[in-house]
Amino acid sequence: MPEQPAAVRAKNFLEVPLGYSPDDAVAEASRCIQCKKPGCVEGCPVNVKIPEFLKLLRERNFAAAEQKIKETSSLPAVCGRVCPQETQCEARCILGKKSEPVAVGRCERFVADFVRNGCENTETQSILETKKTELKYPPCLHTAAVKKVAVIGAGPAGLTAAGDLASLGYGVTVFEAFHKPGGVLMYGIPEFRLPKAIVEYEVNKLAERGVKIELNQVIGKTFTIDELLGEENFAAVFISVGAGLPMFLNIPGEDLGGVYAANEFLTRSNLMKAYQFPETDTPIARGKNVCVIGGGNVAMDAARTALRLGSGTVKIIYRRSREELPARSEEVHHAEEEGVRFLFLTNPSAYLDDGHGRVRALLCDKMQLGEPDESGRRRPVMVQDSAFELETDCVIVAAGALANPLLPQSTPGLELTKRGYIVTDEHGRTSRANVWAGGDIVTGSATVILAMGAGKMAANDIHGVLSGK
Ligand SMILES: Cc1cc2nc3c(=O)[nH]c(=O)nc-3n(C[C@H](O)[C@H](O)[C@H](O)COP(=O)(O)OP(=O)(O)OC[C@H]3O[C@@H](n4cnc5c(N)ncnc54)[C@H](O)[C@@H]3O)c2cc1C
Repeated sequence: MPEQPAAVRAKNFLEVPLGYSPDDAVAEASRCIQCKKPGCVEGCPVNVKIPEFLKLLRERNFAAAEQKIKETSSLPAVCGRVCPQETQCEARCILGKKSEPVAVGRCERFVADFVRNGCENTETQSILETKKTELKYPPCLHTAAVKKVAVIGAGPAGLTAAGDLASLGYGVTVFEAFHKPGGVLMYGIPEFRLPKAIVEYEVNKLAERGVKIELNQVIGKTFTIDELLGEENFAAVFISVGAGLPMFLNIPGEDLGGVYAANEFLTRSNLMKAYQFPETDTPIARGKNVCVIGGGNVAMDAARTALRLGSGTVKIIYRRSREELPARSEEVHHAEEEGVRFLFLTNPSAYLDDGHGRVRALLCDKMQLGEPDESGRRRPVMVQDSAFELETDCVIVAAGALANPLLPQSTPGLELTKRGYIVTDEHGRTSRANVWAGGDIVTGSATVILAMGAGKMAANDIHGVLSGK
């Protein structure tokens, strides 16, 4: 797929891959050999009917191809961009045994973009420009006779559940803490990987289907779950609040100026549009020597954002080796091409003060890999007497995220794991009657498609319970 050259894109926030042309997409879809028992479908957490949509794409029936995907996945333009296809559907493609697997994600992205942009001319129409849509939340269509369901959190889990429940005829209200819906799709994943116009388009579609979206509503503060089920008259509640509480390293100096949680850094840039400062109100650090701690997608997003903000050098500090990097290989590749440097087998032990309350360096130890730990990856072990200083004026900590305790703490009787995640059964039911949960708040930090799958499953079960079927 063509993409912006690395040197150009490292200075802008526009999307990196430019998308297939119709002919490219048709050619790629034609590589699918239409297996009788398609492993790709099994490899997809929501079992998208991949060979069927690729066949429709091959026949240039783009709208039908998109509809086929939407039978099981509500956000194809999002999943086509951010799903880790290389470990899911594409990992199971039979062609991958001898050559490249079919690029399922890119084909998915193509049909979704094509339909969203209302393209008629299949030969020449450019699909690169996503139409800007104004966010509009039409008056709620709920009537007294309709059973009401509350969805808490407007990330992929909540949006999927809301869409499915609205289609089933329920009066759905989504309560979202932020001033914009979308969850991580809006505040975490940067514009250059997932244009926000796409998320806004999907939210508008939901609103058009009668889903009411209440922004700036922190459930647990503005309403409790008991109030929603009581005086607010909701028959069921789906909790999809994600796992957005940043994890720190708990090492000396973490409160120095210039040390950020990746969550805050990305939220400033993506949600508050700090990269357009001073046209927008939110400032953001533009370090001369930025260090990002961590090796996942969040670390790559933070590093690539720092680079685009005009920082001098940007380094990723990771305590294991390249082989153990949890980020998608495509993101690592893009980051490296753009000029992000990697320091593997390196572990920070303290942030050092410049004497004025700001960070001046990271104190680090060299590591080596020992025996596998509970995650199956080889455990990093410190090399004795290997400590060294790494000069920095801006550190972004991307060491993972935890469940925010606010909602669980305000909900008596909600069973939690030791780490604070909500316990559910295989249908997404919690220990509280009429309360379901799904997405990262149940699984811990996971993926968009798994969150969507959880939203779908819960919506189905809520319908089963509320309709007595
Ligand atoms: C920077 C970053 C990059 C990522 N990249 C990828 C990727 O490339 N591919 C991939 O598959 N996954 C990726 N992920 C993971 C993926 O985004 C998450 O697994 C997914 O978004 C989880 O969806 P969710 O609906 O459970 O929660 P979220 O997306 O976190 O949404 C939860 C929503 O609930 C709201 N909320 C929280 N508390 C309350 C409350 N008390 N009241 C009301 N609303 C509340 C939040 O504001 C938020 O909008 C990434 C995550 C991050 C942080």
